[in-house]
Amino acid sequence: MSLPRFKYLAPKTIKEVCKLLSQYKGRVKIIAGGTDLLVKMKDRELTPQYLVGIKKIESLDYIHYNPVTGLRIGTLTSNQSVANSPIIREKFAILSKAAEEIGSPQIRNMGTIGGNLCNAVPSADMASPLIALKATVKLLSFKRERTIALEKFFVGPGETVLKADELLTEIQVPNLSPRTGGTYLKLYSRGSVDIATVGVAAVLTIGKNDNCDSIRIALAAVGPTPLRAKGAEEIIKGKKIENGIVEKAAQAAAEEARPRSSPEYKRQMVRVLTMQAIMQSLEQAKQA
Ligand SMILES: Cc1cc2nc3c(=O)[nH]c(=O)nc-3n(C[C@H](O)[C@H](O)[C@H](O)COP(=O)(O)OP(=O)(O)OC[C@H]3O[C@@H](n4cnc5c(N)ncnc54)[C@H](O)[C@@H]3O)c2cc1C
Repeated sequence: MSLPRFKYLAPKTIKEVCKLLSQYKGRVKIIAGGTDLLVKMKDRELTPQYLVGIKKIESLDYIHYNPVTGLRIGTLTSNQSVANSPIIREKFAILSKAAEEIGSPQIRNMGTIGGNLCNAVPSADMASPLIALKATVKLLSFKRERTIALEKFFVGPGETVLKADELLTEIQVPNLSPRTGGTYLKLYSRGSVDIATVGVAAVLTIGKNDNCDSIRIALAAVGPTPLRAKGAEEIIKGKKIENGIVEKAAQAAAEEARPRSSPEYKRQMVRVLTMQAIMQSLEQAKQA
């Protein structure tokens, strides 16, 4: 099917983007890589009058790491760049692995990390690992800038707290404590597009006696938004990470999942993947 008619605007600076978003509020959509947006437009799910193309604004495409303040990723960074980045591979391997899980090389090169988040599907591969990493996002409009926890960014399927005149500019990830490990595990149907059927991200830090100092577990594709499995986290926090307790936590995560389709199967998969994600993260933490 062909695309509906629209007018394409190509601002050269972030300020110009904000100005256009404010001027055409409600009638305009940002387009980054277009790998999600153009599909929705072809399906007539979205029919914006104007598209603001941001792909050529180089100042939104960067990966910066600071040993004190952590990682900052510009919204336009392609998923392939996240997968390839030596500093992300070294310090935040859960993120590079999650990015590698996205579609094909072509889709990873076109699609951006910001687009993955702003599209706000519950199955987005970058969302749950970033939530587990306590990421925040920077949102900018003509009038103001604000930073919010990514966990609070998602409101429902395809919906975020982004206002009609706001642009997501940056993703920020705080530094990890020593002895931290993180894993993202994704299940998808063979032969279909590689969209997650279930995804589980876990990031944990161990302290003395290998007890769990902190843990964050985030689930993908089993609710209206990516979800934190807080009950599961509470079961493990402060305890020695052993089989019995991991099974209990995984069961809690399964109960916290809110899948709309195939609920029994998906809950089982959340349980299995949560156990694996915790154990793999523990191994990494011990070696870190
Ligand atoms: C064949 C195929 C396979 C795929 N496989 C996967 C997969 O395995 N896992 C997965 O997670 N995704 C997958 N995707 C989805 C897609 O590639 C990713 O979500 C990608 O990261 C989207 O980025 P984009 O730059 O193309 O977003 P776009 O399509 O340009 O934008 C997506 C949405 O975000 C908004 N937006 C973009 N940037 C901003 C910004 N900076 N501020 C505010 N709003 C913004 C747009 O207005 C639009 O509503 C797949 C897509 C296809 C077509």
